[in-house]
Order: sequence, then structure tokens, then C-alpha cells
Amino acid sequence: MKIAILPGDGIGPEIMAEAVKVLHALDLKFEAETAPVGGAAYDAHGHPLPDATLKLAQAADAVLFGAVGDWKYDRLERALRPEQAILGLRKHLGLFANFRPAICYEQLTQASSLKPELVAGLDILIIRELTGDIYFGQPRGRRTAVDGHFPGTDEAFDTMRYSRPEIERIAHVAFQAARRRGRKVTSVDKANVLETFQFWKDVVTDVHAQYPDVQLEHLYVDNAAMQLVRAPKAFDVIVTGNLFGDILSDEAAMLTGSIGMLPSASLDQRNKGLYEPSHGSAPDIAGQGVANPLATILSAAMMLRFSLDQPEAADRIESAVKAVLAAGLRTGDIWSEGTQKVGTSAMGGAVVAALTGKTITKR
Ligand code: NAD
Repeated sequence: MKIAILPGDGIGPEIMAEAVKVLHALDLKFEAETAPVGGAAYDAHGHPLPDATLKLAQAADAVLFGAVGDWKYDRLERALRPEQAILGLRKHLGLFANFRPAICYEQLTQASSLKPELVAGLDILIIRELTGDIYFGQPRGRRTAVDGHFPGTDEAFDTMRYSRPEIERIAHVAFQAARRRGRKVTSVDKANVLETFQFWKDVVTDVHAQYPDVQLEHLYVDNAAMQLVRAPKAFDVIVTGNLFGDILSDEAAMLTGSIGMLPSASLDQRNKGLYEPSHGSAPDIAGQGVANPLATILSAAMMLRFSLDQPEAADRIESAVKAVLAAGLRTGDIWSEGTQKVGTSAMGGAVVAALTGKTITKR
């Protein structure tokens, strides 16, 4: 097993160090190689995704990614900004399926923006198509309007499009994921208004014929957004396009209390993937040793499960994280009265201690 480790910027290197510590504590045989990405790579090599970093990611069995970005790079031309590294990796590695679990840990129900009874035990999986839709459709641009409400004025436009194979492959991913969970898929569309999403709905329905053991429901995106805050536990797997998935996955993230807890995976056709926390590089707290490393540690668990075929090791990490929370340890973002505040390294150390069967100490 070869893992490419790309720590990135801001809190990236701090949280990545803890995830690597946890991986080493598992006694698995793997090779890990680190390379710069994002702003760190721009500073060192003049590009956010240098050739050597891309080659390492392509050669590895899986990529563990920290976070990229800092306000100081905002003035760079778009192609050189740190965030372009993520888009480049998605494109070159063919990562079309984004998995974002939204799990509300029992001990953290108070941190959610919803009433505890609505989120206690929440465990949903959002699967977002990642390489199509209006984010990539051509043509796009600015021009002078020739028709519409204001002909002769400036206008901007994008193209929403999905091909049958693009919808089929993400639908298969969703139905197969549902088979490993609650056997229910909610496909989110806007078929009442958009041609693209009437087509999406038709194709998902066609693919469903191959999965009679999985329940399929269709929801319009506006209703889905509402149901996510009304009764989120009614969902199991949600599958949707790139634009709607971008928005709904952030909405779901907030149900769980802290973005510092949420892992994610982006997979290709053969389950090779890039694993990263759902949050950014948090420049406001970088270098202070206070960031929550659990989203990155849980991303490493997803990597072991989906790309490296080590489900038991993944289970061990997830159980260790639950044990640490049960022992009352919290980083600042999830801290509440009566719990013990710890820093990044102590949190990682506690997960290692729980993994190796040692008593979890609070300091
Ligand atoms: P952010 O997710 O970095 O931070 C939002 C807030 O959450 C901040 O207050 C931060 O301190 C807090 N936070 C985030 N992760 C945390 C953690 N692990 N522990 C404790 N607190 C945490 O989002 P932002 O501030 O909007 O963006 C900062 C930079 O990150 C920008 O340059 C942005 O472009 C980039 N970004 C990168 C990614 C990525 O690498 N995938 C994703 C989102 C944003």
C-alpha cells in the first residue's frame, strides 16, 4: 500500500501529523510519501500542483490530503491559487464520486444547531457527482445579450449538462453504497424546472431496476434542503449533482455540530481516492496547535475502508475516536461545559492511546 501524504497549508500540516501518527499505530504495512500542495507548493515550486506531486498522487493507491488556501494567495491569478490543486487532482485522477458522511456523535448532539432529538444518532451519506454539471459545462462566459429581458446589455452564462454515462456511474455508486447501509437512496433533482435534471431522474430510475433490494425516492432540491433540517434522520444515502451536492453537503455538515469532525472521500471508477477533511485550512487558528484533527483521522479511516481494503483497521480508528469523545476530550471547536479542552497533538495522542488499548489521559 502506497499512500501519498499532501499536508497543504494552514492547519493542514498539524492535522496531518496526527492522522499519520494514528496510521502508524495500526501496525499495517504501508509506504507513505509526503509532497507539497497548495500555497506551500506555490511558495516552493511556483505552482499549487507541481508535476512531482501529481505524479506521486497518480502512482499511490490513495491520497490523504490536509487542506489548502490562505488569504495571502488571493491576489494570484486563478490558475496559481492553492484551491486549483484540488480541482487539478480531481480532474487528473478522475475523482467523480464525492462521499460526505454526516454523522452526529452521541456526545456531540449539543453542538448541533438542531434540537438534540432531531440529530441524535444521525448517520447519513451524501454522494455528490464531482466532475460534471454547471461547474464544468461549456460554453460559459460573458457576452452582450442578443435576446432575453435586456438585449444589448452585458450578461454572463454557464451550461448545465449531464451525459447518460455520467449519471449512470454515480447512480451505481449510490445504490452500491446503500446496500452496505440502510438500503435507501434519495435522488435529489429539480426535474420540475430543469431539462438536465428530468434526464437525471429518468436515468437514476433506469439504473434502479438493477437494485430491486434498494428503495429509491426522488426529491426536488428545495424540498430536500427543507427535509434536511426538518427530519434529517429520514435519509440514508442522498445522491445528487455537483451544484446541489455542494450546497446540501455543507447544510448537512452543520447538523453534526462541527466541521472539524467531518471526513470526506472522492473516488474514481476503481475506488482509488483522495481523502480529506471537509473543512479548509483555517488560517485563523493555524500554528496554534488547537485545530481538531478528528476529521483528518476519520478521513484516514475512510481511506482504509474504501481504497486500501482494510475495513477492520477503519473500524478500529472509528471506535477509538468514539472512545476519546466518550472520555470527555474535546478540541476548542467541540468543547462544552464539563468536558476537557485539549490541543491538536493531545487529541491525536489520545486516539493512538485508545487504539493501542492504553488508558486515555486527559492531559
Ligand atoms: P475553513 O473551513 O478553513 O474555516 C472555517 C471556520 O472553521 C474557521 O473559523 C476555522 O477556524 C474553523 N475550523 C475549520 N477547521 C477546523 C478544525 N479542524 N478545528 C477547529 N476549527 C476549525 O474555511 P474558510 O475560513 O472559509 O477558508 C479558509 C481557507 O481554506 C481559504 O483559503 C479557503 O479557500 C480554503 N478552503 C480549502 C478547502 C480545502 O482545502 N478542501 C475547503 C474549504 C476552504
